[in-house]
Amino acid sequence: MAEIQTMLGAENMSSGSNEFLLDVLRNKILKELKCPLKDSARNLVFGKGNSCAKILFIGEAPGEKEDLQGVPFVGAAGKQLDKLLSSLGLSINDVYIANILKYRPPNNRDPTVEEIKRHTPYLVEQIKIIKPRIIATLGNYSTKFVLADFDPDSMKKIEGISFLHGKHIVKKIDGFEFIVVPLYHPAAMLYKPSLRTELESDFLGMKEILEDK
Ligand code: URA
Repeated sequence: MAEIQTMLGAENMSSGSNEFLLDVLRNKILKELKCPLKDSARNLVFGKGNSCAKILFIGEAPGEKEDLQGVPFVGAAGKQLDKLLSSLGLSINDVYIANILKYRPPNNRDPTVEEIKRHTPYLVEQIKIIKPRIIATLGNYSTKFVLADFDPDSMKKIEGISFLHGKHIVKKIDGFEFIVVPLYHPAAMLYKPSLRTELESDFLGMKEILEDK
């Protein structure tokens, strides 16, 4: 465990400045983001974890528990994610977790393109601050957004998660390179238990990237 945490840079000395920058961004969202979801939601759900993480997980949108607590992945899907992380010898303190949408859509409906357009500029800023080695996208929305080079209008051209899951795809943003690992959303295996084996093996596939210096 200590070994993989070292590979992840969990002891990174510059976490203070990243934390500061994330805090500034958080306040910017509270002040600037214009979106009707802000009126229906209870809290901003910004992100959690290690601000210098080598793995950034991106989910879809906060659910009811996340909306209440203002923290991503604290409900049933979060419990599954915690278990998957521990299969890699990791915990939330080693990775960072954020969502496409920063506020909960009513009744957990799917995000609209308009909402994705309003919320994702802040996600892109989060990515640029954290500069992870791996972006692990959880489910269709985050996979399509990242593989469409962060252009919501191009998301429909990207294949679905059942085709893309487990692949390792190199991408760049402003000269900074990272590897995208599309994964089934942990909530999907609650509805379809047969996906568990694939998700577990795709998770372990990330170890390969972390060990490859
Ligand atoms: N599902 C997500 O995609 N994000 C969360 O924060 C919780 C559940």
